[in-house]
Amino acid sequence: MSLLITEECIACDACIDECPNEAIEADDPIYMIDPDKCTECIEEGGEPSCVPACPVDCIIPDPDNVENAKELKLKAKHINKED
Ligand code: SF4
Ligand code: SF4
Repeated sequence: MSLLITEECIACDACIDECPNEAIEADDPIYMIDPDKCTECIEEGGEPSCVPACPVDCIIPDPDNVENAKELKLKAKHINKED
């Protein structure tokens, strides 16, 4: 599952450098997560590193992009190959 950023985002920039996959983009008025790049940090142990960085708790699971652990690991492998 990818995560998404809700409209509560205050565009503070705190999350962007936390993402190992460069999935977070600074957009206007709120930041965005690219569902093709978000692996839910499965490769880092499955704890999304962007979530604790957010001061307003506006990064949540995206119900339109649900994936199981196997799919997330495959996505992570694919992303790392492109690096
Ligand atoms: Fe990036 Fe991980 Fe947050 Fe997804 S959960 S946007 S991969 S930091
Ligand atoms: Fe928006 Fe939260 Fe990221 Fe700040 S940390 S830019 S409030 S999503």
